[in-house]
Amino acid sequence: MRLNPLTGRWVTIVAERAKRPSDFAPRQALVEIDDARPCPFCPGNEESAPPALETADESGTWTMRVVPNLYPAYAGTSGFVVHHLGPVHTLAEASGIHEVFVYTREHNARLHQLDDDQAAATMWMLQQRLSEHAELPNVRYSQAILNHGREAGASVVHPHAQILGLPFVPGEMLDEERAFSRFEGGCLLCTTVEAEASVGHRVVFADDDVVCVAPFWSGTPYELLLIPQQHESHLQRASRDSAAAMGRAIRDAIGHLNAALGDVAFNLGLHTAPHNHTGEYHWHVHVWPNLVTQAGFERGTGVLINVVPPEQAAATLRATRTLA
Ligand code: AMP
Ligand code: ZN
Ligand code: ZN
Repeated sequence: MRLNPLTGRWVTIVAERAKRPSDFAPRQALVEIDDARPCPFCPGNEESAPPALETADESGTWTMRVVPNLYPAYAGTSGFVVHHLGPVHTLAEASGIHEVFVYTREHNARLHQLDDDQAAATMWMLQQRLSEHAELPNVRYSQAILNHGREAGASVVHPHAQILGLPFVPGEMLDEERAFSRFEGGCLLCTTVEAEASVGHRVVFADDDVVCVAPFWSGTPYELLLIPQQHESHLQRASRDSAAAMGRAIRDAIGHLNAALGDVAFNLGLHTAPHNHTGEYHWHVHVWPNLVTQAGFERGTGVLINVVPPEQAAATLRATRTLA
């Protein structure tokens, strides 16, 4: 068992379980989405989404758009007001903001094929959106995510991410905030970078700006963690260069996954400190390829059993060449 110091939870790594007999076919890498409808995010169909909140363009042609989600999970400006309907029924308004970030015009573009400028521009756009979220009085935390492939929850093919501004700080983030304040050796992730660089075998790639590791405490196969070398709590406060380097690193991480595993479905999650967070924190990006289903044990206990040790995942990924 290995302790994930970010969540405080134990994970279990059992390489031998990958060899157990199964009556089911192994999970296919990706998984097409039925694409018969006109694409709401393609050029020419701008009218099918609400008016853009932010647009980047080059000589009058948009290159990226952030639009309000037509089916928002969080909307409105009311604060976090809790209503107790009875001893066990508690409600709060799901206020906040839910945006779709269409980061390319190209319907069939792939994240791992973005060029350096595009990769940098996506992160600059995120920095701008997060700065704006930070000004919204009812938004306490913003979560940027990217789902790729139906198995990972994507419902639209056109490349896009989502940015949600929440009226509360969710549990996963509270756990990480506590982890950073509990850690006594300086910054938990600066220390992780040092420790992983000195042994090397869980590092997929690294440069002066970003380190990509298969974390020691990986709970799922080929899980990756991307850590900027520049210590900063909030992405929107990071230097533009540091953010741009993260954009390229995300692209390359997905490139390695693609080269090693094929067009695998995955989720990507940005962790940046809650807007009014003081104290220690170090922003970072998680990548969770969707290769296994969480079953009864994982749901019942919250304990993950990972059948691919991160040392093996990192070695496999290092051996591949990215396409970019
Ligand atoms: P995903 O489900 O991760 O692929 O993200 C796609 C998001 O786009 C979903 O949250 C949808 O609610 C949202 N969406 C779908 N159609 C539209 C549209 N026409 N305009 C704005 N957002 C949309
Ligand atoms: Zn499209
Ligand atoms: Zn995290």
